[in-house]
Parts: sequence; C-alpha cells; structure tokens
Amino acid sequence: MANRITSHSFSDFLKPSQVIFELKAKGKVQAIEELLDVLAKEKLIKNKKLILTRVIDRERLESTAIGEHIALPHARVDTESDIAVAVGRSEKGIDFDAIDKKKVHLIILVVWNPAIPGLFNHLFAGLARFLRRADFRKRIFEATSRAELLSILSEIQLQLPQEERIISRASLLYKLQEIEIRKRRASKSQIKELQKQANLIREELDEALLMRFDKLMQRYGFAVAEVQDGVCQGCNINVATQMSSAIEGSNDIYVCENCGKFLISARKKKK
Ligand SMILES: [Zn+2]
Repeated sequence: MANRITSHSFSDFLKPSQVIFELKAKGKVQAIEELLDVLAKEKLIKNKKLILTRVIDRERLESTAIGEHIALPHARVDTESDIAVAVGRSEKGIDFDAIDKKKVHLIILVVWNPAIPGLFNHLFAGLARFLRRADFRKRIFEATSRAELLSILSEIQLQLPQEERIISRASLLYKLQEIEIRKRRASKSQIKELQKQANLIREELDEALLMRFDKLMQRYGFAVAEVQDGVCQGCNINVATQMSSAIEGSNDIYVCENCGKFLISARKKKK
C-alpha cells in the first residue's frame, strides 16, 4: 500500500474534467458540492454525501481559505483512488470566511486516502510554494479558459521539504486544545461530537507533535500558550524577542524555552 504515488506533478492528479472554469455555485457549501460532483462523476470518490459532511465539518472548525482569494477545502477519507483533486474557479468570488475577508476565486478541493499518511503535508507544501507567489496567483486569476488554467496549475511541482506548510499547525493545536478543554465539561452526547472534531484535527498533525501535546495537557491542563507583548502566558516569562517576532504570522511550531508549552501569537478576539 505504501508509496503507491510516484508522480510529483500536481497535474498528474488533475484531468481537464476535474477543473471547473466557472463554478455555478454562489456559496461555500454549494461550491464544495459542485466539485465533489465532478469527483463522483469521474469515479474518484463513491460516498459523496459522507465526504461532503467531512469537508464541511473540517471547514467549520477553521476556514481553509488561506487568503489571497484561494481556498483548499479537504478531507481524509477512504477514496477509490489515492487522492482526488478538483479545482473550481469563480469569477465573482465566493465567501469562504477567509482570514483576510477576501472572496475566494480559486478552490482546490483535495480528498485523500488515509492509507498514505504523509501525502497531505507533501501535497499542501507543494501547493503552498506556488500559491504564495503573487505572480503565479495573478496568472491563475487572469486565465481565460479551462485549458489555460490547467496549464498554469500543471507547473506546480510537489517535491518539497516537509517544513513548508500552508495550514498553521500552531493554530490547529490551539483549536484542539479548545476542544479538549470543552470536553471536560461536556455532556455525553456533546463529547461524541467534540471527539469527532478533535479527530479531524489530529489526522492533520504529526504523531510526535500530538504526543507532546497530550503530555502537556495531562500535566498542566493546557498545552498551547499565547504570547502577549512578548510574554508567554503559560508561565509569565519573557520569550526571546527574536522568537516572539518570528511567531507572529508564522506556521512553524515554537516552544517556550521556560515552560515547554507550544507558543502561539495572541489570538484576536472573535466577534
Ligand atoms: Zn512559558
């Protein structure tokens, strides 16, 4: 089962029929469904309903809109293939609850098989490297046909170091912590739902990180601490200035040198 994937170009997963040049959908859920329809038609997935639920559940935890008009909704489920990708473009844009509030004009939907654990980071790292380039995004948004869009996306290569991650692991850890804390006071039925959410997050994080996280949770009741004005809120000790500024807006994992907790930049209050 392992290493069935030998290709390293994004286009190897993307046939022209898996690219919708103009989505009909006006909303986020409909757009995801429209893309799943394509995958079902191509026989790349079978249980569309289940996958839709999984993708939406994941989306509810934290929007996969990564800013600059791009979203990467995803789910890890048993698929007919190793990986199923569909791309949709929307001229008008779709509201995806993006961090930067910008409407999403490009959606890359990824469903991948749990039998290949490393694939997620590998694929997303590749996408990140290309999509964070303003010139590359500009070409994507200026494409005038499906063929042109597909040809631009075909330039994406997937051989990349693991470190380049587009989804913030620190922010996922923080979310996981919130869920674990809520579980303590939840009713039996609530716990089931919370556990489902926790598992979704756990699937995206490395085992080593999770082990450390669980250990910290067990010992201190929490594992992720905010850095506020340069001070670790977990132990009230100053964090090295250099690290403090690095944490800001970073997707890397930082650990407090004093108390060992994962550090995250101070969360903005949700409205
Ligand atoms: Zn600390």
